[in-house]
Amino acid sequence: MRLVTYQMLNTQELKTGIQISNDEVLDIVAETRARGGAEKVDTMLAIIAGGDATMTLLREIEANPKTAPIMLNTALLKAPITRPTKNVFCVGWNYLEHFEEGGAKLEDKRELPTWPVFFSKAPTAVNGPYDVIPFDASVSIQLDWEVELGVIIGKSGKNISEADAMSHVFGYTVINDVTWRDIQRRHGGQWDKGKSLDGTCPMGPCIVTADALEHTNLNLTCRVNGVIKQSSNTKHLYFKLPRLIHDLSLGQTLEAGDIISSGTPEGVGFARTPPEFMKVGDLLETEVEGIGVMRNPIGSY
Ligand code: MG
Repeated sequence: MRLVTYQMLNTQELKTGIQISNDEVLDIVAETRARGGAEKVDTMLAIIAGGDATMTLLREIEANPKTAPIMLNTALLKAPITRPTKNVFCVGWNYLEHFEEGGAKLEDKRELPTWPVFFSKAPTAVNGPYDVIPFDASVSIQLDWEVELGVIIGKSGKNISEADAMSHVFGYTVINDVTWRDIQRRHGGQWDKGKSLDGTCPMGPCIVTADALEHTNLNLTCRVNGVIKQSSNTKHLYFKLPRLIHDLSLGQTLEAGDIISSGTPEGVGFARTPPEFMKVGDLLETEVEGIGVMRNPIGSY
């Protein structure tokens, strides 16, 4: 099932939906009311928190809709979770060739990691799949791209075993871990600042529920102005999703609606010769097979 958050162009109202074709979504609140249901389904976080009972309702809606679908030319898809309740968990160096390109550029002979690198992006960084990424040259001009598979936690847990980890996943989305590189590097090795500027976490265009996507063999692609910059596959993840969920949940509760961005493959801008960065007017396209494509223009403040 493909779940979306969309904004009606005429009212600006945010709604939750089930995407049933390229250009049609079912209004989940209207469908729930049409059944006399009282479930809280007006936000994606409420749907995720609703667990199995809400998913049963959504499956019934998709199989037997009682309202006319909303045409997507009257609405704009937004980030499926427009404002997470906490920072987006992120993973650094999680594709071997990206580790190597970064190491070569930094002239720093590192051992392969035995533990994943974790950092985070602020909730205010979250951006829609077709929204402008703000560019403020007075802050930085080193705007870089990072296509990633995003993982949405469904069932809360702590000290989750690797064997049990995937039962805690609600679904998957596309994330671009857009990064201001000079800011990332200059704050004592802590990446959060350069990863958390407004609009630098485009997410979407939907969440594909875990039952509908085999996550271990998905092509990931990032294009700038139509030119492919990154092209890899989730089978090359160095730390697999069960390990990431296990390690993140050690002594720290993962909650329904938490988001994990699982790392980016090789081909980022700063590691190119010469380095490449995005500028105002560029179009950033971010794609994960089976989920969809985001198209974010780079725009001035
Ligand atoms: Mg990243």
